[in-house]
Amino acid sequence: MNPMNAEIDEALKTRLARVKQRIREAAARSGRDPASVSLIAVSKTVPAQTIRKAVTAGVTLFGENYVQEAREKIESLRDCPLSWHFIGHLQSNKCKYAVRLFDLIHTVDSAKLADALDRQAAKHDTVQPVLIQVNISMEATKSGVSPDEAASLAKRVASKSHLQLKGLMTMPPFFDQPERARPYFAALRDLRDRLRNALGIKDLDELSMGMTGDFEVAVEEGATLVRIGTAIFGDRP
Ligand SMILES: *Cc1c(COP(=O)(O)O)cnc(C)c1O
Repeated sequence: MNPMNAEIDEALKTRLARVKQRIREAAARSGRDPASVSLIAVSKTVPAQTIRKAVTAGVTLFGENYVQEAREKIESLRDCPLSWHFIGHLQSNKCKYAVRLFDLIHTVDSAKLADALDRQAAKHDTVQPVLIQVNISMEATKSGVSPDEAASLAKRVASKSHLQLKGLMTMPPFFDQPERARPYFAALRDLRDRLRNALGIKDLDELSMGMTGDFEVAVEEGATLVRIGTAIFGDRP
């Protein structure tokens, strides 16, 4: 390896270690077991050879936003035992690829998409784990069902024999002060607890929330999956 690569590797390792440390500290502050929080390295726009460096630094779980981009990268990293999550907006016509590529799809936001995923998972004789994306802040520009619609979509997903509902995902509004995102994270946790009781799904546990700007607050409020790109890979182009 040339010295230039080694240097980049070190920087990535340092950033990764810092992120993990901050997750541990946030978990400790809220009396949580740090092992209950999984770090998803968000690798959209990041080339496969950089992902490989992250793998060398110990990352095994990656999040991608675009099916076509992910297909190519997953293919070129076939030799590594990795887990891939889909965190972008999923179109129904991409479901046939998504069910083969991703261990968890975070962004089910309509009955139509749930139906299409179930159909494709059935075709591949598999059960697709999914989260429901909730637009907890009700922003017009954001994907996700409203908190009021979440129960009926959750029921529909839970009724599908080829889908497994694992939890909820959200993106709160962007704030310069992460503390202001706290009520939205707390609201997603409350919604998960209510759905878990109402639907009687014991393992409806996952809360996918928290990005580079706000993940510590998300962990304090119960995040089980944090989706972090910039703090690990640096600014995207
Ligand atoms: C890009 C993206 C992230 C990561 O964002 P950073 O601010 O770079 O950590 C997380 N979640 C989703 C849904 C994204 O699209």
